[in-house]
Amino acid sequence: MKKLLTTLCAIVPLIGTVQAQEFTSTQLEQVKQVREQALNSDLSWQLLESLTSEVGPRLPGSENDKKAVAWAKQQFEQLGFDKVWLEPATFPHWRRYRESGAIVSPSTQPLHLTALGNSVSTPTDGITAAVVMFETLDELIAAPKKSLENKIAFVNYRMNRHIDGNGYGPAVRARSSGAVEAAKKGAIAYMMRSVSTSHHRFAHTGNSRYQEGVSKIPNTAIANPDADQLERLIKAGHAVSVNINLQTEDLGEGTSYNVIGEITGSEYPEHYVLIGGHLDSWDLGTGALDDGAGVALTMAAATHIKQVARPKRSIRVVLFAAEELGLWGAKAYFKQHADKLDNIVAAAESDFGADLVYGFESSVSATSLPIVRAIAQQLAPLGIEYIRANSARGGPDLIPLRQATDAPIFALHQNGTDYFDYHHTADDTLDKVAPDKLKQNTAAYAVFAMMAANAKTTLTGKAK
Ligand SMILES: [Zn+2]
Repeated sequence: MKKLLTTLCAIVPLIGTVQAQEFTSTQLEQVKQVREQALNSDLSWQLLESLTSEVGPRLPGSENDKKAVAWAKQQFEQLGFDKVWLEPATFPHWRRYRESGAIVSPSTQPLHLTALGNSVSTPTDGITAAVVMFETLDELIAAPKKSLENKIAFVNYRMNRHIDGNGYGPAVRARSSGAVEAAKKGAIAYMMRSVSTSHHRFAHTGNSRYQEGVSKIPNTAIANPDADQLERLIKAGHAVSVNINLQTEDLGEGTSYNVIGEITGSEYPEHYVLIGGHLDSWDLGTGALDDGAGVALTMAAATHIKQVARPKRSIRVVLFAAEELGLWGAKAYFKQHADKLDNIVAAAESDFGADLVYGFESSVSATSLPIVRAIAQQLAPLGIEYIRANSARGGPDLIPLRQATDAPIFALHQNGTDYFDYHHTADDTLDKVAPDKLKQNTAAYAVFAMMAANAKTTLTGKAK
């Protein structure tokens, strides 16, 4: 037996050596403990249930947004975080009141739609006009000037389904700038097939922009089955008219807060691992997948670490404000901490639902790769594969950090195959989250954050 063990140790020397160099056997035992504890705990589920039920939807600037800030602060305090504080962030405050739609010609039928974020209102009786369909945003951009006067432009682009959500980027262009491009051609309203992979009759909202000097026209997404219906009618040669009625309000500049909880490190308290999600959500659902899950699981992960052993470096859970309206909390956070971004030894955001984490990826310097491999080894029992590309981008709230500095960024890639069935809809509710998957996510973040905080060598980022 002894001989066999000696032989095995000789066969797997590399990872073993790195683990021994970077982590003590006690630390590795603690990683195992934290993983088991997270897998057997309901804490992340309890937090998510409380946030989505007792607070509900959390549109930035709403009463519920204020409640969510108070909720997060109180939860951090009750969970025993060493430091809990708020940092303000401003954003364009927008609200939705009522919305409805109908096909009025060739026959009257309901149209399931939703205003896109920042959309202006229609007149109180709505806008009724003929629809002109484009398969892509580029097709709309190529349309002759004035060709859409008194018309409603409709972009019918279909998003692709993919495990890593790579269909989102190409589809979201039509949401961000579709209304601007339509207005340039004279359209009086803009309508798009939802940025969605679903066949259910929910419209998907999301942020959109106007451009100075281009008229602001009502801006809406329709449910995919309704887009199919319009497409059938138009392709059959019918002249199709619809009525769109959106009642919204631009309330000027709003203020919300990033809520931050820290487990203070024992040896290098200034250095910290940043994990988190965004506290705000769209108003249609209860923001369970986007991003209640990320909030709950990162709060729980840090709590499990603290309960097992105080880390050497700090672990900071940042719950970003107003992500949905344009990363306003993240911009404020990284601006406020601009002179101390070097203190961030690792950063990862969970903002892609609550399905299983399948891959672990870094963006670090070559000298830090052995630590990454050691972490990957401790994530493997959770069914997580090590992705060697070393090109992790982290979550959306880490974009301002990546732009400002070469911080070490990590991604715990979640299976996003179904994410865009629910994203930004009335259907983003707690029942879409599987408790066991949430536990696996929590365990993954706990293992990652604990090891990043405890490595002997400080992680460093990959130079751009
Ligand atoms: Zn999100």
